Amino acid sequence: MNDYHLHTKLCKHATGEMYEYIESAIEKGIKEICFTDHIPLPDEFDLKHRMRLKDMDVYLNWIESCKKKYKEISILTGIEADYIEGYEDYLESFISQYPFDLVIMAVHFVKQWPKGQWVFSYNLPDKSITQIYNDYFEAVLKGINTGFFDIVGHLDLIKESNFSILKTNSNNIDKIVNKIFDRGMSVEVNTSGLHKHINEIYPSFDILKKIIKKGIPILFSSDSHSPEHVGFKFNEVMKYLSDFNGVKLATYKKRHLTLHTLTQEYI
Ligand SMILES: [Zn+2]
Ligand SMILES: [Zn+2]
Repeated sequence: MNDYHLHTKLCKHATGEMYEYIESAIEKGIKEICFTDHIPLPDEFDLKHRMRLKDMDVYLNWIESCKKKYKEISILTGIEADYIEGYEDYLESFISQYPFDLVIMAVHFVKQWPKGQWVFSYNLPDKSITQIYNDYFEAVLKGINTGFFDIVGHLDLIKESNFSILKTNSNNIDKIVNKIFDRGMSVEVNTSGLHKHINEIYPSFDILKKIIKKGIPILFSSDSHSPEHVGFKFNEVMKYLSDFNGVKLATYKKRHLTLHTLTQEYI
């Protein structure tokens, strides 16, 4: 079992020391983890919630020293990279500069919306929920199309409890699922929603079913911003997935994807 999405205090909204995340993972029997802190963005955009450019060396050095210290667990180097339309050149050159094992794509902001509005706390009274979903998923689709990223992070982060995405925007999802497949990307099963108001994984099970059916590889991620959340509810979600046939699990190293079949040994 692996956890491919962990934050560090460098993003200023995560707590605990890196060693606490690692020890929490070891305690839970997790074999491989990846630190994926929030990428610095141009013009210090959203600096409050992410690393500064000059933190990158600190971040990479911390990970390297953890790798040396902890031999009982495999530790990978990753990044959670925001896709925001207009930042393509920056993203391409940033990602290619560092020795990442994997790069998670995250859409936290939509270009056409008022600057600085997070997708989970937007205020767009003139738009219907269908339009809001559509704006978000169009941005996700564009991000996938860049080819810069390995994994689609929290795919349906935009979701509202009372508005099923597949009821109103299944077209968006179908396009995204096909594009992820064409691009050879993976999708994270992000359990952080299970301790948030939404109380669901990202993506929801109905969307995840489509992803698995298409043959897209998945991987587990807690998106931990504190050490106790490492591996959060992975066992429960794994058990649920064991009912599906042909689930492909993805692992990464140096941005190279390896596929595994979900079997009882994981459960
Ligand atoms: Zn975060
Ligand atoms: Zn994250």
